Order: sequence, then C-alpha cells, then structure tokens
Amino acid sequence: MAKYVFVTGGVVSSVGKGVCAASLGLLLEARGLKIAIMKMDPYINVDPGTMNPFEHGEVFVTDDGAETDLDLGHYQRFTHANLSRKSNVTTGGIYNAVIQKERRGEYLGKTVQVIPHITDEIKARIRALTTEADKDVDIAIIEIGGTVGDIESQPFLEAIRQFRLDMGRENVCYVHVTLLPYIAAAGELKTKPTQHSVRALRDIGIHPNVIVCRTGAKKLGAEQRAKIAMFCDVPDDAIISAEDISPLYAIPLNFKRQALDTTILNALQMEVGDSDLTEWEAVVEKLKTLNEEVRIAAVGKYIAHDDAYKSINEAFTHAGIANNCKVVLEWVDSEQFENGVTPEEKLADFDGVLIGPGFGTRGVEGKIKTMQYVREQKKPFFGICLGMQIAVIEMARNCLGLPQASSTEFTPDTPDPVISLLSEQRGIQDMGGTMRLGAYKCGLKEGTKARAAYGVDVIHERHRHRYEFNNAYLDQLEQKAGLVVSGLHPKGDHNLVEIIELADHPWFCASQFHPEFKSTPLVPQPLFRDFVKAALQGARNRG
Ligand code: GLN
Repeated sequence: MAKYVFVTGGVVSSVGKGVCAASLGLLLEARGLKIAIMKMDPYINVDPGTMNPFEHGEVFVTDDGAETDLDLGHYQRFTHANLSRKSNVTTGGIYNAVIQKERRGEYLGKTVQVIPHITDEIKARIRALTTEADKDVDIAIIEIGGTVGDIESQPFLEAIRQFRLDMGRENVCYVHVTLLPYIAAAGELKTKPTQHSVRALRDIGIHPNVIVCRTGAKKLGAEQRAKIAMFCDVPDDAIISAEDISPLYAIPLNFKRQALDTTILNALQMEVGDSDLTEWEAVVEKLKTLNEEVRIAAVGKYIAHDDAYKSINEAFTHAGIANNCKVVLEWVDSEQFENGVTPEEKLADFDGVLIGPGFGTRGVEGKIKTMQYVREQKKPFFGICLGMQIAVIEMARNCLGLPQASSTEFTPDTPDPVISLLSEQRGIQDMGGTMRLGAYKCGLKEGTKARAAYGVDVIHERHRHRYEFNNAYLDQLEQKAGLVVSGLHPKGDHNLVEIIELADHPWFCASQFHPEFKSTPLVPQPLFRDFVKAALQGARNRG
C-alpha cells in the first residue's frame, strides 16, 4: 500500500516548499522507491494558465497539456515522477468538480458543504495519485501551497488531517517548512515564528513529524534546534537546517547529510536499502567547478519576477553542465530597440541571443530588429515559441519584401499573416486551457541541426501557444530566405511547422514548442545544449 508525505509551509510564503518536496522525492527515489508528487494550490483560479507569469512565475506545462504551477518544474528536474493533469489541483478545480457533481444530482437530497464534500474531493485527488496506472507508487508527496493560517488553505489542511485517520497513522507523515528570521540586533535566528506556526498547525490537529527550517545564510545552531524540539514537540533529529545553498541542486545533499529521508521512512515504518546518489553528486560537483563562461542575451519585455522563465534559466544551467561552462543569461529589454538604441550596441558582446516565449504586442518590434541583427551578423540564435514566430515575421519582412508581415496576434488585419490562427482556434472565446497545449509528435528532417541535436527521427515536445506558422508562406520563405523546416507535426494535409532553422548560419534554430519543460540536470535538453555549444565556439574563436 502506498504511503503519503504532506509538505506544508509556515511563517511566510515562498519559503521553498517546492524545492523541499522535490528534494525529498529525489532522496526517496535514490533509495529505490517509486514516488508520485503533486501540488495543491489554495487559490480560486481553475489552473494558473490565466495568471500573469510576471507576478506569479512561469506556467509549467505537462505532457498531457495541463497548465500548472512552476513547482512542478522542480519536480520534473529533481525526480522521475510521472507529471500529469493529476499533479496540480487548485481550490477552483476542486469547487468546479463539486459543483458539476451537484448539478448532475450526485448529492441529491444533501446540503453540499466544505466538510465533507470539498474535503472528500481533495482526498479523492490525493488517492488518485496512487491508483490505476500508478498503483505501484510507494510514496506520494503532496505539497500544500500557501501558508498555515491562510483562510483559503483551511479545507486542504483539514483534508490532510482526516487523511491520516483514513489511512492509518503509520501511512502518513507531515513535513512543515518554516522560516527562522535573523535579527541582527540580537545576533541570532529567531524560533518564535516557527513555534507559532506549528501551534497553528497543531490547532487543526496536525502534528508535524519533521520541521525543515529555512535559515538564510546561517545554519541552525544546537540551541535553536533544542528550543524548536521542545516547544514544537518534535525530536531533535527531525529538525532540519535548510540554510541557503548554492548551487540549487546541492540542496538534496544537505538534506541527505541530515538523514531527512531516513527520518521520514522511520515515521512511515518503512525499511529500504541505502541510497545511490552518485550521478547527482557528480552534477553538483561539476556545477561547482565550471570556469569558462558563455554570455547569452535573452531579449524580451522587462521582467521583474525571477521565476517568470524559471525552466529556461534552469535549462541553460543544464546546457552548461553538458558543455563544461557556466551560462550567464542576461535579460535585455527589447523596447529600447524601438527607441533609437541599436541591437548592435547592446548585443555585440554576447555569445548568443535567445528570444523566448511571450504574449502581447509590447516589445515585439524591438525583437524583430534583434532578429534581423542576429540573422545578418550570424550570431548564434535560439528562438522559443514567440521567438520562432518573430523569426518568421522578420524573414518575411526583410527577405520576402513584405514590410507589413506580422502575426494576427499583433496585427489582426495584416495583409501578410505569416503567423496566424488555425481554423480550430478561430471563434474560441474562453481563455483558460484553450491553447495548443501539451506534447505533440514532431518528425525531424535528416541533415538539419535539430536532427543532429536530438540524434533521433521523432521527438515529443510540449506546446503552449495559440498562433501557428502559416503554410501559405512556406515555399517563398524556403526559396528566398533560406529557411529550413527541420521539424514538422504530421497533421493530415496540414502539417504544422515545429522547428525552423537557417542552413547558412553557425547556429540558428527556433522551435514552436517549449523545449525547456523537459530539461533536467541529468538529461540536458538537446537544443539548449547545442545552442550553448555554438555560442561557446563563437566565444572561443573570438578569443
Ligand atoms: N503569443 C504566441 C502564441 O500564442 C506565443 C506564445 C508563447 O510564446 N508561448 O502563439
């Protein structure tokens, strides 16, 4: 029978529960266990797909096309868990399901209430992680978003409290992640907020088995550990010091040194063999010793939120591991290229240029100027999603002589809609969950850079966009712009262009899909890897 670990957060949000849950998943897998992992988000959006990534962070996409919280990206990068629609649940999704059941008459005669109907639905979603195709899961890890004490978290906390009663004490374990603020005047880390947070948890009937303490730059001292142990009624060895650690991928090793996995396995009364973390340790070692640097400019709208392109940042780190170099990714505001600054001035010193995903018109003209510069100056270039669309627009304007070419996203009545909606997207009014989402098959063309990067003929990569390459312009672009279509999704008489490149260029590839979602430190994504390789080559040639 499967066992369950719940990860809750206290004191503040953004305390690192996601990385903590992912690290735990990695440690348990290293002991030979099969894990499942999910995130429960207490907000009312049905999924994060309609939220602004500049405020909320990236929207992560699964193979089956769910738009999910960015913590699933950590799960993807740290573990082998199967991520799907089942792996991210929100209050909105739960209520949606319950209300639909009510309308169908499934609760006929009953008053539908938070307890038991909402909590039952939450528990059913947790159980679904370990049923059907996932029957062989040994441990499911469930991260609860938000902070203990939030009004909107309450039904989730009540459900996970009940869950232990339903499943038996030895089958459920609770991990609470908190923050210990450092007060300079006192010269110490303060445990009081953690005590309060655990008290709030115990008020609802949850007694944590483990407390993970985020302590910033400092380590947890023996004195604070003893204090937390006494006030929170948790044994010393179940209090984990989670100081800031770099690189990020070294965090699980810090937990391992403190035997977090063993403490949890003991709480769950499981006996399993010792772990093998050799591969992971090698990655961490490598990251610590990278000397050579490659500088990539990510040209786009100004972003204030570090996590808006989390998976892209990480995919570059992985590509660096593969190429033995440190990738320095710098964001360059594309709007300045619309106001007199030339791409040459800002981009000449970079070894490669990325134009990443995006929505809306702002900064687009600056990106088109950037594109002309990298194409003509033969700078290594990688485009992702909107980046591919911009490349097509630029070539149509400057190589085909169609100065008004555009995407119908930016100019609905453009005379040359080189990027436009497929007929099945026309007329869609709802914004949530209606884009081309999830993994699509893509056939690669022999002799291209994409085929060389992947080393196989057929790949599956994840999409999240509404607009597509317009095949009406394909012949002209091939003949006059030197465009090569290196990846196609076969679709009857209307194949979809998935990857484009230029033959006469050191490295110029752009994909309609989002390759960043499948990159991991152990298996760097091939396009990112080869882009960085080309950038590094260019840097070396320049000396
Ligand atoms: N805005 C474009 C579209 O919807 C690109 C989306 C993206 O870059 N993810 O097609």
